Amino acid sequence: MEQIDRHDCLCRLSKLLQPTCVSDIQLQGCRHLQSQLLVADPGIDAAAMLRIRITALPDEVREAFLEGDAVLTGSASEFKNQPFTWELFGQRISDWDTVALRCREDQALIAEARNHWISGVGSSLLMGGFCSFSRLLLGAIVNRLKITIVVPIERGACPMPHPARLAALQAIQQRRPLDCDPVEPLAEIWASDVFTLTRMKSSLPKDAFKAVRRVIRDGGKLQLQVADVVAQAMKDWAVAQGAHYYAHVFYPLTNSTAEKHDGFISPQGDGQAIHEFSGKLLVQGEPDGSSFPNGGIRSTFEARGYTAWDITSPAYLMRTPNGVTLCIPTVFVSWTGEALDKKTPLLRSNAAMNQQAQRLLQLLGNQTVAPVNSSCGAEQEYFLVDTQFATLRPDLLLAGRTLFGAPSPKGQQFDDHYFGAIPERVQVFMQDVEKQLYRLGIPAKTRHNEVAPGQFEIAPVHEAANVATDHQQLIMTVLRSTAKRHGFSCLLHEKPFAGINGSGKHVNWSVGNSTQGNLLDPGKTPHDNLQFLLFCAAVIRGVHCNGPLLRAVVATAGNDHRLGANEAPPAIISVYLGQQLEQVFQQIQRGESRDSSSGGVMRIGVDSLPEFPKDAGDRNRTSPFAFTGNRFEFRAVGSGQSVAGPLVAMNTVLADSLEWMSNRLEAEMGDGQSLEQAAASVIKLVMDQHGSAVFGGDGYSDAWHREATEERGLENLRNTAEALPVLQRQEVRDLFQRHSVISPVELDSRYEVYGEQYVLAIEVEARVALSMVRTQISPAVQNHLGSMATSLQQQQSLGVNVDPSALHQLADLHRRMGDHAEALESELHQIHNGDTAASMHHCAGVLLPRLLQLRDAVDQLENLVDDDQWPLPSYREMLFVR
Ligand code: ADP
Ligand code: MG
Repeated sequence: MEQIDRHDCLCRLSKLLQPTCVSDIQLQGCRHLQSQLLVADPGIDAAAMLRIRITALPDEVREAFLEGDAVLTGSASEFKNQPFTWELFGQRISDWDTVALRCREDQALIAEARNHWISGVGSSLLMGGFCSFSRLLLGAIVNRLKITIVVPIERGACPMPHPARLAALQAIQQRRPLDCDPVEPLAEIWASDVFTLTRMKSSLPKDAFKAVRRVIRDGGKLQLQVADVVAQAMKDWAVAQGAHYYAHVFYPLTNSTAEKHDGFISPQGDGQAIHEFSGKLLVQGEPDGSSFPNGGIRSTFEARGYTAWDITSPAYLMRTPNGVTLCIPTVFVSWTGEALDKKTPLLRSNAAMNQQAQRLLQLLGNQTVAPVNSSCGAEQEYFLVDTQFATLRPDLLLAGRTLFGAPSPKGQQFDDHYFGAIPERVQVFMQDVEKQLYRLGIPAKTRHNEVAPGQFEIAPVHEAANVATDHQQLIMTVLRSTAKRHGFSCLLHEKPFAGINGSGKHVNWSVGNSTQGNLLDPGKTPHDNLQFLLFCAAVIRGVHCNGPLLRAVVATAGNDHRLGANEAPPAIISVYLGQQLEQVFQQIQRGESRDSSSGGVMRIGVDSLPEFPKDAGDRNRTSPFAFTGNRFEFRAVGSGQSVAGPLVAMNTVLADSLEWMSNRLEAEMGDGQSLEQAAASVIKLVMDQHGSAVFGGDGYSDAWHREATEERGLENLRNTAEALPVLQRQEVRDLFQRHSVISPVELDSRYEVYGEQYVLAIEVEARVALSMVRTQISPAVQNHLGSMATSLQQQQSLGVNVDPSALHQLADLHRRMGDHAEALESELHQIHNGDTAASMHHCAGVLLPRLLQLRDAVDQLENLVDDDQWPLPSYREMLFVR
């Protein structure tokens, strides 16, 4: 390729174009005239003038360009028919689009592109444009002229992405995966930062250790003398690891994790200071909890809240650049004993479920029954966006999701990200995360790319629900903090980007104990089968009776964008059993004894059930609540949520069904029926009354939505404003009170807090949107309007027949955006007129639709405004550049 200097190039360009060209080369806005090269063709009317866009690229790409590696192509015929499209390396990009690319990505295409470039083939119009830090090269082959023009332009003289975005792009290109320590042997790091039972065993006197183990296993209170001994051992261990502080960690109603730090230091009378930690300090803390939302349970003058050690969840060390802290998982309650947190009801729900499960297990003739616990394995989805981009997006920073953003021409339609190779920087990040999790005794097990570009998943092996919940919170914390170190922003919002998949947190849940095992596992013996069918039926009944509650516990502003969109389960809560198991239940319901799947005779509880396929995760992704072989998977949970709420609901709902079931069984058996007969009739009754919650079809389809609501009487609570008031229904209050899980006062406070969180979230979104529109977007549009108008005037003065419709379209859109912003502003003022319910409905019914209208205008503008004016990193950049 020929290189010529800028002056010479311009001269040649003018010469070449003059005899044939209708107009001229327009050097628009003077500031960056060369790049705004307008090439006009006698055969093409002025409106179809091609405007060659330039893309900012780093040095390495510029080199590639010099070698002829990268070329933009578009055909002459497309050129004539507005709106034309362009292709870059075989991908379509839209008009006015700018593409940042790494040109070495696809060697075959590069080779092909090079061919094009060199031969300047027939009827295609080829052009390539790249700018680097020091200069910009604009190359164009206009097919008609069959000529190559290379224009070097000085730095700063070209329209690149907006300077802030350009700087971000350049910084990202320089990034390399972080240097990480080599992977340490698992045996060395596993739970090395946890005060495990093994550690307690070796550091506590025998009696003390036994007392601790007993409380962990059977519940109850730890005596203060024992607590003193434990505290001492715990402190010695932590101090030896470099800790000077301890923190009672608790889980307020905001889905976040809170901690209050205190030093071990204790000044002595003689001017010395020592480390001290008593049993009392271990067992109980007293943070000033007045700023945590409590939904009216406390007024600030009685703001005291207590934290109390949850001995079933081990203490651990948190390492940050600022040092090491001993963290003690706690419950957080008011001075009157009301739960102010997510952990307390979880522990209570587990106790309730245990009580009812024990009763049923004993009815089934089990001699010894160990305490029954619930288990949880939560699959966490998240997005990674480079911090360079994220910090330029006020919406991501403050609202956790993009409020604006035109779709990327390429999204997830190729399904090429799902389970694809994990990008190197991300892989190093994941390894770093896993190492920290292992130290914390968190069994991270799976990692992979998710469906959307830039989306990933991490899943630990399941653990006792209470521990799993604490670990889940830690996973979110570790993901966020580690991402920062690797130059990423970890987005846990349920819907950070419109138009592509959002993030969920599938909660895998089962119940079991050490004597009977997993009660949701069909098992091998007839006895296990019977047990399994009853527990499974209890879940079916529970979901049917409490579908709205299960919907309410996943209701958040973020999750509303997911549920019911065709990527996540619908807001209608049904149960998926899988074909075989569904058949088994239907047979029992019909009183049939034939097992159609295996052809064998099946009498409930006597013959073995067919083996149900495990891991049915992908078989029906459209179901919110699916049986997956030995557990249920609640798929409607949001990625940013604490899993405690859903677990509380599932445990309590199960406890309630188990109680109902035991009552029925006892009654039937009292009437002289055998256990087996009684079980069959109870299961039949469940299916008769609650089988309508079982659904194996496509949960996304309109037909299901109609059938569910119109024929089966299932509720479709479409958003948080509709779902949260379920917490105020009498039957829900009764349910939680009956099982001593959440008192009516606590439930009221939860409704208020969650409602307020929802309203606040949307209020913040509206405020952020308004400020972005006014201080970033509108100024950009106005600049662009100005330069467009100037350009049109210049062309007109040269006699070009100009068509101002594009200018008018832009101006109209800009006006429309302004109108929506104004309307949003005044609607925002009405947000707190009325109670929580009224505010929620105002958000869902007025503010969110308005935000969407505003967004629509902004997104159209993004596709029209000069790239060097648009201040916000685009979807394309955030999702694909890393
Ligand atoms: P999938 O993507 O197919 O749903 P994953 O392997 O990603 O499967 O996640 C499955 C999750 O379910 C893991 O956290 C796993 O530990 C958990 N799990 C497996 N068995 C049980 C069980 N009996 N109870 C609760 N969780 C379980
Ligand atoms: Mg899953």
